[in-house]
Amino acid sequence: MSDQKNTSSPTGHWVNGCWTQWDGAQIAVENPSNGQQIGSIPAGTAVDMDNAIAAAVKARPAWSALTPADRADVLDQVADKLEARAEQVAALIATDMGMPIKLAHMIQTNLPIGSFRIAARLTRDFSFVRPIGNSRVIMEPVGVVGCITPWNYPLHQIAAKAAFALAAGCAVVLKPSEIAPMAVVSLIEATADAGLPAGLFNVVWGSGPDAGQRLAESAGIDLLSFTGSTQTGRILSRIAGENLKRISLELGGKSASLVLPGANFERAVKVSAGNCFINTGQTCSAWTRLLVERKDLDKAEDIAREVAAKNQAGDPFNPATRIGPLVSANQKNKVMDYIAKGIAEGATLIAGGKSPDGLTEGHFIEATVFSNVTRDMCIAQEEIFGPVLSIMAYDSVDEAIDIANDTPYGLAGAVWAKDQRDAEEVARQIDSGQIDLNGGRFNPLAPFGGFKASGHGRENGSFGLDEFLEPKSLQY
Ligand code: NAP
Repeated sequence: MSDQKNTSSPTGHWVNGCWTQWDGAQIAVENPSNGQQIGSIPAGTAVDMDNAIAAAVKARPAWSALTPADRADVLDQVADKLEARAEQVAALIATDMGMPIKLAHMIQTNLPIGSFRIAARLTRDFSFVRPIGNSRVIMEPVGVVGCITPWNYPLHQIAAKAAFALAAGCAVVLKPSEIAPMAVVSLIEATADAGLPAGLFNVVWGSGPDAGQRLAESAGIDLLSFTGSTQTGRILSRIAGENLKRISLELGGKSASLVLPGANFERAVKVSAGNCFINTGQTCSAWTRLLVERKDLDKAEDIAREVAAKNQAGDPFNPATRIGPLVSANQKNKVMDYIAKGIAEGATLIAGGKSPDGLTEGHFIEATVFSNVTRDMCIAQEEIFGPVLSIMAYDSVDEAIDIANDTPYGLAGAVWAKDQRDAEEVARQIDSGQIDLNGGRFNPLAPFGGFKASGHGRENGSFGLDEFLEPKSLQY
């Protein structure tokens, strides 16, 4: 198994355009492929967070006062400087997060670079002043934005917030996940090389309950933008509610792929199963429930079994590897518990379900498929966040829609039908933020966000820019 790749631990927090001195406690960072420690990050405290917020508060007005085009020029530079580090970023994420290197290049590197470019482009053409009757509505930057992010797409989740917040004229204070944090250093370096003025992008490392909670509670931030679990989202919502602060939540999911009568069945099942296993199933929008007509259950099982067999777990640095390790021992244990629950609840395990033979180090689990899953089962209701697909049978299209909507979540999904019109008719009845019709591609300009317990607020494109603006109406 590959060892450390280009990791270099941060020497302090990144505050006001400088690395702070740090001789306090450290949090170990691990390579999930072999369980070895590869570095560490400072365990930031409330004081570190307060310093970072103060730097952002001070830096924000001058940045807000620039023209959108001037801000966009700097963001384009950040994209260039990050692109120059693309190899490094992909290698770091393959090392500390475990995503296979080819996918890490395609997704983990290209998406954040794209976010900075898109934010720059949209800002140049954005309507920051909107005439409405006898009013002129001025879209002002909300102020200082606190960002708290997870580990599964570590730079993408940061860029989807920071690029758009900066484009809107805000300053950012980030608390990244303590798991898989190494690529954040590359982004910090890119912002510095791009000439982003000091104090606009600050990073305080540390744990959620310490550094993160301080950020959420601080009077210095004007908006908290959070991506992570629904459980943490509830805690942060309460804090924001108490302080009457704006909060944007991108939370968990349990998305369904509905294969309707008349669809290209083989393609639909293949793509859906593959989607579930991307990033070892550690994707908020993964289609973890596959809904097929009862008469087609056997056929779906055969195809899904084949897809699982092709998704062999292995070394993320082997270009042939399709799925890497789970990110941590905790995550692996959580997923194994769900697999045990699925078996105990009476679902039929048709592929995977254990650690792969020969991979004794690291946190690997085979691509796993359950069939005969019913809606009352835990594995049909709860987010597993691992490579576990649940195949569910339906007897009518109405029942399929009902099953799709029958979880607390509403983040993503897919509908496969005989044509786009039929697919859209069903998609309109699903309570979910984004739904792909007959294999429709991911669109980084379209709004991304959830219904129900998947959160509220939208990221990406012009909707992503709106998140960080406050309308002010001037009447004439
Ligand atoms: P998590 O445990 O909720 O952690 C997310 C972030 O919140 C981390 O930085 C964490 O810090 C911090 N945090 C934890 N407790 C906190 C507290 N009391 N106060 C302030 N911050 C706190 O989620 P995760 O395990 O990292 O990520 C997986 C989850 O994210 C899944 O549920 C997934 O669906 C969701 N997700 C959603 C989207 C979306 O766009 N909807 C995208 C990606 C992931 P530490 O962990 O460092 O302590």
